Amino acid sequence: MTDLARDGTHPGAPPPGVTMSAPDVDTHCPYCALQCGMTLRATPQRVEVRSRQFPTNRGGLCQKGWTAAELLDHPDRLTTPLVRDPHTAQLRPATWDEALDRVARTITGLQTAYGPDSIAVFGGGGLTNEKAYALGKFARVTLRTRNIDYNGRFCMSSAAAAGNRAFGIDRGLPFPLADLAGADTLLLVGANVAETMPPLVRYLVEQKARGGNLIVIDPRVTATARQATLHLQPMPGTDLAVANALLHIAVTEGWVDKDYVETRTAGFDAVRRSVAGYWPAQVERLSGVPVADLETAARALGTAGTAIILTARGAEQHAKGVDTVTAFINLALALGLPGRPGSGYGCLTGQGNGQGGREHGQKADQLPGYRRIDDPAARAHVAGVWGVHPDDLPGPGLSAYELLDSIGSPTGPRALLVFGSNPVVSAPRAGRIQRRLGDLDLLVVADFVLSETAAMADVVLPTAQWAEEDGTMTNLEGRVLRRRALRPPPAGVRTDLSVIAELARRLVGDGMAGNGTTGGRTTGSATDGSGTTGGGAGSSFPEDPRLVFDELRRASAGGIADYAGVTWDRIDAEDGVFWPCPAEDRPGTPRLFAETFPTPDGRARFLPVEHRPAAEEVCPEYPLYLTTGRVLAQYQSGAQTRRIGPLRTAAPNAFLELHPDLASRLGVADGDEVTVHSRRGEMRAPARLSDTIRADTVFAPFHWGGAARANSLTNDALDPTSKMPEFKVCAVRVERA
Ligand code: SF4
Repeated sequence: MTDLARDGTHPGAPPPGVTMSAPDVDTHCPYCALQCGMTLRATPQRVEVRSRQFPTNRGGLCQKGWTAAELLDHPDRLTTPLVRDPHTAQLRPATWDEALDRVARTITGLQTAYGPDSIAVFGGGGLTNEKAYALGKFARVTLRTRNIDYNGRFCMSSAAAAGNRAFGIDRGLPFPLADLAGADTLLLVGANVAETMPPLVRYLVEQKARGGNLIVIDPRVTATARQATLHLQPMPGTDLAVANALLHIAVTEGWVDKDYVETRTAGFDAVRRSVAGYWPAQVERLSGVPVADLETAARALGTAGTAIILTARGAEQHAKGVDTVTAFINLALALGLPGRPGSGYGCLTGQGNGQGGREHGQKADQLPGYRRIDDPAARAHVAGVWGVHPDDLPGPGLSAYELLDSIGSPTGPRALLVFGSNPVVSAPRAGRIQRRLGDLDLLVVADFVLSETAAMADVVLPTAQWAEEDGTMTNLEGRVLRRRALRPPPAGVRTDLSVIAELARRLVGDGMAGNGTTGGRTTGSATDGSGTTGGGAGSSFPEDPRLVFDELRRASAGGIADYAGVTWDRIDAEDGVFWPCPAEDRPGTPRLFAETFPTPDGRARFLPVEHRPAAEEVCPEYPLYLTTGRVLAQYQSGAQTRRIGPLRTAAPNAFLELHPDLASRLGVADGDEVTVHSRRGEMRAPARLSDTIRADTVFAPFHWGGAARANSLTNDALDPTSKMPEFKVCAVRVERA
């Protein structure tokens, strides 16, 4: 047993790894991947948030960060487990024992009847590194299921796949954020940082003040686009063609860095031939971007002393997202940017731990350290740390949407455990996914509020919030940071690590979980080649995040995302440590690619990519493009931010943004309720007229559920490589409701 009482309270002591309330605690914002530094102070009335100087935010916070503590004592906070009563079909309070026993009993029964893969796990990009690691291990070692994936698949997967195939590594920014300010030309593609990461804007302001060119590619005149020196406004789904046109111009004008291409890359000739067909005039017809603007942008990039190209969800959340990112990487490589001081290509990660969350094993095809689960050497190493035989580890599972969509099929999952995610709002074609969840024999949700997904669950497990637990996060720069607890969780609430340990204990027995003891159902004496023998502490599920992190370091050692040399003490002393960091006596790696790329021959890869239409084009029945995105005052599925008063006041509801000319054609006035139809569903929201959007395109934010759920409309066509759904473009019809 742990020091948790059976009712889930912490008698007289905080849970493992949680330091008791200090007057002030330096930590980071719970939301996006900028991971702004903040200080928390407990006063008798409430927890106060104060900004603090940190290299990413330099003292800035956005409205979401300032108000983050309001959720800690919110009346909607869950403080007791809930189970669905079979007689009333309603959720009712339960003890932790009842809830966990029910989960374990049902899992055991389903696995006996249908096999290990009948249980699936769905994680989140907001989970700490320790939780993401423990969840992946729990799925593979305790449940022995191949079915684990996470909501980061909907966020980062296209840029990750493109980065891996071009550079041999996926680290969002291969350089510190501060480099942005020094770039002579900065190109942002589908990145509305002024709304998603406002403190980052100070780097753009600094860059422009130095006389730099700031170019934004976005179908809407966003708050970020308004700050640009040049805004390209392509039709949704045509970014790839625009990138190829920019490279076409660079080739024609002689701006390609021939020496760099010759010595540091492979495959340029095929790309040069492929972009030869992307004449600017042709791409203007395709994308709507004037030739003159394409030429101005290409010149600004091609003749700059230093230049940086950044992509974000606008370019990536497409069924051709990997190829679109590849087109911009091709452009960056041709100009000799990656690895050159002050220059490069990067992607702006979205979720708080979107980077670390995709490195340590909650992806269907991955083991810790960014290892591939189908690589025998990787399996042997991780199995050695976990104390199991490599053959006992399952193989690759289904990607996030495929996993959710397979529920209800003869071989699909019959139980789903959700940690830190709200797919009822955030999945594409969400109505279908909601129906799929209804087909489960068991839906378990660990969360701190009753999200739309938790409201459907058979068992809801109340978990700790960010200010109540320790751990690490890895921000958009690849900088590993410390999350520090201000206070323990309220009575009745457990940490995710505690939930995982308790479930493992029930499913396997005390030997496999909890306090670092060993043993368990799987056997083996595999070694990882570094002297770590199987059957050690790795086969346990500690609740202390520091112990989990130490194990993660061993599991990641020698992998692409190598954390072996990162310690909590170093993070504290160094304002974070950049991975890879293979040893405690080695520095971290703020900048990648200076000398070589981590590919077999050390060269970056060009790959020819061709424009293709969106998976669903407009037609007489659905004549408009819909694109979706975020607003400043809300975050992701909104389960947290929609409950925070000032954010609700700032952004109380969903809306449909449309051009006044379009509105007039439709007979719609500003504020009128409209219905938006796609082939997959409909949403209702008030119209918001804006002449900053193309007249052939409408925009809806995706933070709301119910009738205002934008993802009722979105297309579940998947990128063939990354399995990213096509969130950013589909065909719709708009009517006055
Ligand atoms: Fe910073 Fe992002 Fe938090 Fe805003 S939401 S304070 S930008 S980390």
